[in-house]
Amino acid sequence: MNRLPHMKSDSTVYSTGVATTALLRVGLIGEPVAHSYSPRFQQAAFDALNIAARYELWQTSAGELAARVASLLAPNYLGANVTIPHKEAVLSLLDVVDPLATRIGAVNTIVQRDEYLYGYNTDAPALLRVLAENGIGKEGAGNEQWGNIVSLKGHTAVLLGAGGAARGAAFALVEAGVKRLIIVNRTLERAQRLAADVQQGRDCQVFSLNDPDYLIPHPRSIIINATSVGMHRADGNEESAEDAVPLPARILERFNADTFVLDMVYHPAETRLLIQSRILGLRAVNGLSMLLHQGALAFTLWTRQPAPLAVMRAALE
Ligand code: NAP
Repeated sequence: MNRLPHMKSDSTVYSTGVATTALLRVGLIGEPVAHSYSPRFQQAAFDALNIAARYELWQTSAGELAARVASLLAPNYLGANVTIPHKEAVLSLLDVVDPLATRIGAVNTIVQRDEYLYGYNTDAPALLRVLAENGIGKEGAGNEQWGNIVSLKGHTAVLLGAGGAARGAAFALVEAGVKRLIIVNRTLERAQRLAADVQQGRDCQVFSLNDPDYLIPHPRSIIINATSVGMHRADGNEESAEDAVPLPARILERFNADTFVLDMVYHPAETRLLIQSRILGLRAVNGLSMLLHQGALAFTLWTRQPAPLAVMRAALE
């Protein structure tokens, strides 16, 4: 796909291209979805721009995924967000997948336009927006696919995880020119696969999360937790899950004071990893800003309008 649907040459004023006066619908496809903050800030954005749309939660098992995606073809549907565990499986159910999402192998945003379903990944560019917002890296060159991005030349990224979110992050970090990418995952083979996919001649190392002792810290490191370790779970095992850290404190304390830590987890807002990082004097932020930016990019894809970022941010507070 060369052009994004919202960049069609015929797009003048806001139009969903929907010939209906029915309430527009959009929602989150995943399992579980009850914990999601997306309705809060997406609904606030629709309301602020007087768009008659409702953002819903669509709990969807693997067996229900194909039917759920097909239901997005109804004329009053704008599309959807996709979350755990369907970001990878959903690709084969779409008509057109954006080249970036294809390379990443994960889609988190579906747009329905003229009875075609388009897939995008907004997690990856959202990560770079969060780094820029926090003053990490230098202003870099932009392009059509990524918008304005930071340059991470000279930085080392330690990426914890190799699932859908980590894949997006790895491509984003490489796009931003990170000097060295270190992927640490529980399942080593998955990390090796990701490294092979993104390497592009870059210094790329892989470690097992079960054995991070060989991890050598470098100056100007960015540690990104893209595992679900530390995330609140609704399965009755809350305490032990939230107590967990993806990187033991004995490893974390080896890092320089200029290390920046981004935990993609945002529920709870203060994960054990963030608390430990701050005790060690490291700058650390949770995943709420990334959630906001991936949602804002999705909003623009659905509506062809700039997202009201301040409204969305306020709705998350
Ligand atoms: P995913 O595809 O299911 O990947 C999960 C990752 O976590 C894998 O690397 C997995 O390792 C690892 N993992 C799971 N349980 C683990 C455990 N007990 N010990 C060690 N490693 C474990 O999920 P995802 O879509 O990448 O999401 C990962 C996290 O990022 C979630 O918490 C999600 O909410 C968050 N996220 C946040 C945003 C945001 O906007 N803030 C966006 C996307 C994702 P294995 O490969 O060994 O299974």
